[in-house]
Amino acid sequence: MVLTTMATESAEPLHCSTFASRYVQVCLPRFKMPDKSIPKDAAYQIINDELMLDGNPRLNLASFVTTWMEPECDKLMMAAANKNYVDMDEYPVTTELQNRCVNMIAHLFNAPIGDDETAIGVGTVGSSEAIMLAGLAFKRRWQNKRKAEGKPCDKPNIVTGANVQVCWEKFARYFEVELKEVKLSEGYYIMDPVKAAEMVDENTICVAAILGSTLTGEFEDVKTLNDLLTEKNKETGWNTPIHVDGASGGFIAPFLYPELEWDFRLPLVKSINVSGHKYGLVYPGVGWVVWRCKEDLPEELIFHINYLGADQPTFTLNFSKGSSQIIAQYYQFIRLGFEGYQQIMENCMLNAKVLREGIEKIGKFNIVSKEVGVPLVAFSLKDTVTHTVFDVSENMRRFGWIIPAYTMPADAEHIAVLRVVIREDFSRGLAERLITDLNKVMEELEAHATRRTLVGHVELADDSKLEKSMREITGYWKKLVSERKKIAGGSGVC
Ligand SMILES: *Cc1c(COP(=O)(O)O)cnc(C)c1O
Repeated sequence: MVLTTMATESAEPLHCSTFASRYVQVCLPRFKMPDKSIPKDAAYQIINDELMLDGNPRLNLASFVTTWMEPECDKLMMAAANKNYVDMDEYPVTTELQNRCVNMIAHLFNAPIGDDETAIGVGTVGSSEAIMLAGLAFKRRWQNKRKAEGKPCDKPNIVTGANVQVCWEKFARYFEVELKEVKLSEGYYIMDPVKAAEMVDENTICVAAILGSTLTGEFEDVKTLNDLLTEKNKETGWNTPIHVDGASGGFIAPFLYPELEWDFRLPLVKSINVSGHKYGLVYPGVGWVVWRCKEDLPEELIFHINYLGADQPTFTLNFSKGSSQIIAQYYQFIRLGFEGYQQIMENCMLNAKVLREGIEKIGKFNIVSKEVGVPLVAFSLKDTVTHTVFDVSENMRRFGWIIPAYTMPADAEHIAVLRVVIREDFSRGLAERLITDLNKVMEELEAHATRRTLVGHVELADDSKLEKSMREITGYWKKLVSERKKIAGGSGVC
């Protein structure tokens, strides 16, 4: 996103390539479209070369988003690159594949539908769009209910943990819903269901629980939240529902923790989002939102278009988008099946365990993430006197690793952590390599700190030596001057 119109960089030529072509000898404009065309191979070369300075996605341990897919799926995606998803009547098979994906996800999340019944849900650009849609459905449902009761409906709020992903803050601000956040505390980095239930009032459109906190990967306790809200709803008659943000955990929990009740098995859970491009194992951007049943998605939010052919219901924020990701999601579902996903998630967990144990063994970190949750390792420094997690992150970059460091949200802002997300393509070998490099970085940082202290000591020693000789010299002169004075009896000027 471009926020500033000022030229902050120098007007130096962007490209002074050594290639012989004259097209790469001129500088590329940065602010205006060039007047003349250039050949396609030159354009390709120039852009490709500039992109070499981006980080390597496979070593980007900051992201949950898929960085590797099978070549067969790459082929399907490339073939669909020119297919606009919204042209449903022209591409009915693509639409059918999206519907199959929605059904499969709804069943995976235990929606109360029959084996051959279709589910209510939609493919989106990612969990963010999915969350906007789910949030809008809650807001509209709440408004309709309030209007029917003859009560004001101009102050909707939503209850979440302070650890929510930024898209919830976006939803709240863009769609004018007050965000009521349950604050975190040191050692407890997810939404406390007791505090969340306490925060609920008659204007609460829903409580959003996260399955797989972005910051630590930890699952929030949706079951307890469901029980507490059931109680509260009985007392108040408010009927406050739950949304589960399963952006990352939605494709982990069903395979690794099938007994964990977090989904539509809990009666108050009315909608769930999940990122197809995270543990759904598809390149960005695809996400999904599914509703428990038809009644949970107000009819007036669904638009019907017919100018592309037959009547098509749509509930999305944008119109045109690519089809490739939807096709790729379907590929992953049928290619891997339940068993395949399970194996991949087990592998990720195992690699996370190796990494966690390796990091613990270095002896300088506290592990902040839990063993149950999204396969990631979040860790903080035990001792931050001489260096911080930000120094560690910066130094790891020298080895090619991109490991983010960040502070926790309110009220745990004083805790800063590093986070390594384990994806399918992060092998055991890489985990071991990372531990070795982290060890090296820590040794270097410590050696540097010791050197600094040592240098400090020497300077101190020098300082005091200097001071001592200064005192000696001053004393000598004073003595000399007073003796001269005595001898000459004069002005004392010498
Ligand atoms: C990543 C993430 C999101 C945003 O999802 P996108 O698919 O990137 O739009 C929302 N919530 C949580 C918990 C996430 O991890």
